[in-house]
Amino acid sequence: MTEAYIALGSNLGDARGHVLAAFDALSGLPDTRLEARSHLYLTPPWGVLEQPPFVNAAARIDTMLPPHALLDALLAIERAAGRIRDGERWGPRTLDLDILHMSGFALHDDRLTLPHPRIADRAFVLMPLNDLAPELELPGQGRVAALLAALDTSGLERLP
Ligand code: ATP
Ligand code: CA
Ligand code: CA
Repeated sequence: MTEAYIALGSNLGDARGHVLAAFDALSGLPDTRLEARSHLYLTPPWGVLEQPPFVNAAARIDTMLPPHALLDALLAIERAAGRIRDGERWGPRTLDLDILHMSGFALHDDRLTLPHPRIADRAFVLMPLNDLAPELELPGQGRVAALLAALDTSGLERLP
């Protein structure tokens, strides 16, 4: 089994509902166990600022799936949630699932980079990840709690 961390995000339709349904979809993946879910956060948009706020969260899973098979499974969950890829980078979406980290894997090809290369820039990723794994060392980036401490988190709101 490989331990992996997934980032969840949504800002179209019932964003909270999409994220909660995505936790369930993760728990239903083959050869995979959902080990932990973070709190949900309401976060300001990042990259493209003229769009609704996001609901973000993180999950820890144990999986037998290799990295690219896990990516394919996440893309299928996104499609099932009505994700439409219209080419706009960082635009609004019903569901975004990124692999943040898979224990023991560091790789970079045209489909997949592990760990996810932009974690250190993103409070909306680090805040929920810090719920699950503050001591986690992300190869090439640093420890989750320290990365989070370096960012401005004033715009993030933990949802009840
Ligand atoms: P960002 O990667 O900056 O968070 P994004 O999530 O909006 O941007 P998408 O359009 O959802 O980007 O994904 C584009 C492609 O990124 C995916 O089809 C996938 O092949 C690739 N990708 C590379 N590394 C990863 C990763 N660690 N997790 C998920 N997708 C990845
Ligand atoms: Ca993303
Ligand atoms: Ca993505």
